[in-house]
Amino acid sequence: MSVERPRPDVAIIGFGPTGAMAALRCQQRGLSVVAIDAETEIYPLPRAIGLDAEGARLLYAAGLGAALEACSTPLQGAEFINADGERVVGFDLPEGFVGPLGHPPNVMFEQPQLEAALREAARRSGVDVRLGVTAIDIGFDDDGARVETDHGPIDARWVIAADGASSWTRKQLDISLIDHGYDQSWLVVDTTLLDPDLDLPPIVQQVCDPRRVTTFVPGHGTRRRWEFRLNPDEADVPPTELTESLLASWGSPKQLRVDRTAIYRFHALIAERFAAGPIFLAGDAAHQMPPFNGQGMCSGLRDGDNLAWKLALVAAGKADESLLATYETERRPHAIATVDHTCDAGRLIDAIAAGIDVTTESGYGGGRGAPRIEAGLIDGDHVGVGRPLPQLLGTSRTIDEILGDGFAIISATPVEVPPKLAALGARSVVTDATALPEGWLDEQQVIVVRPDRLVAAVTDDLNSTVQRLLRAVEPER
Ligand SMILES: Cc1cc2nc3c(=O)[nH]c(=O)nc-3n(C[C@H](O)[C@H](O)[C@H](O)COP(=O)(O)OP(=O)(O)OC[C@H]3O[C@@H](n4cnc5c(N)ncnc54)[C@H](O)[C@@H]3O)c2cc1C
Repeated sequence: MSVERPRPDVAIIGFGPTGAMAALRCQQRGLSVVAIDAETEIYPLPRAIGLDAEGARLLYAAGLGAALEACSTPLQGAEFINADGERVVGFDLPEGFVGPLGHPPNVMFEQPQLEAALREAARRSGVDVRLGVTAIDIGFDDDGARVETDHGPIDARWVIAADGASSWTRKQLDISLIDHGYDQSWLVVDTTLLDPDLDLPPIVQQVCDPRRVTTFVPGHGTRRRWEFRLNPDEADVPPTELTESLLASWGSPKQLRVDRTAIYRFHALIAERFAAGPIFLAGDAAHQMPPFNGQGMCSGLRDGDNLAWKLALVAAGKADESLLATYETERRPHAIATVDHTCDAGRLIDAIAAGIDVTTESGYGGGRGAPRIEAGLIDGDHVGVGRPLPQLLGTSRTIDEILGDGFAIISATPVEVPPKLAALGARSVVTDATALPEGWLDEQQVIVVRPDRLVAAVTDDLNSTVQRLLRAVEPER
């Protein structure tokens, strides 16, 4: 007798870092999740190597702090150098430097290792993981979605399509990609440093040499990575031949062991929509960017986290379905800004290589900060709104430990949680005003923090703010 399995809340197509993060966070927030992937193994070729502080914070919140620490090394700095080897722009970080989010601004890691930890955590949390299962058709109505796979159908209330850059789901839903103007071939070479005396930079280098634009990344442990921009006439040269000749000026085979190579076409593309009915595009399926600022996977982690708390609130009847529309409202402009910032880093490389005097830098480092959420479940124009809440100073506990996993309000004097926020499980935290940067808290001000630790509002009229904030997403009673 066959036993019918209950319909999961969420079906996830693609169990890469975005899908695994979304699966883990949805399951941790009480949703039932089925995750499928066409492949049975983790993608082994060189991909993400840098993770920003917000990505680290999301992983810590998901219980993966120890796993991240075990497979990562803090970034010591980064620079753009010209053909003469002179620094044009860049920064150095002192040892042990921790930024306002409570983590190093960036850590070097290995994507397959981190993916393994994410997958394991998702499995342990109860996600029904089905590998070697390919989505072959998809449809939806008012009640939910059906994913046809080569192993039978999966019905779910919602679907997260995290099926990568060539997303089958995106094509199936006829969602086109908008090109933000970048298209180049690069050879990526991951090596192991065999000779500790080999003179290599301890920081990331963008070598802006018109003869060969190159990125060097000192990875975790003995990992050393090079990314070489290819010339159009090199398209047919075998990668091993290219690798040998391009690596020769940096070290010999006795000093560097080549572990893996891949040629990628780096694109800057954004899906015209991030959702169709109950189906949400996430990660590379929704946005692709060159790796200069190390933001592709970080953006996918943000997508997964953003969806998880919203789906959980709707499933619990605490928020109206309209909350889910804020996924696209919030994440798409943020992804566009991230892609454009990355393309600017590419343009900066070209400008330096062309010998142009670069007076205002908009690559990484100075110039401009990380983008913020500009619309959606936020209110007001305080500088912190739509950005991650900084860590509270003067306490050994992290914000996530103090605030928990839901909404919270932070104030310098005790404040009653407004009933609408209380209904969402919001907790109230009273802290010394000096625990946050100047201008964040005074005797009257209250900070409203979302479950993803982004600041929803900084206000001296909490009740009106909460009315405005939640009006559109309150469940019908
Ligand atoms: C050279 C390079 C360097 C990079 N460096 C960085 C960096 O430093 N920092 C950073 O943040 N990002 C970086 N990135 C980007 C990062 O690797 C990607 O953004 C990230 O892997 C995207 O994850 P994803 O889960 O969205 O997609 P993927 O990892 O591509 O996963 C998609 C999954 O979907 C599965 N799938 C596809 N179709 C189906 C189907 N029909 N049915 C079932 N399953 C399916 C696939 O098998 C795959 O496992 C880099 C990328 C490259 C190429």
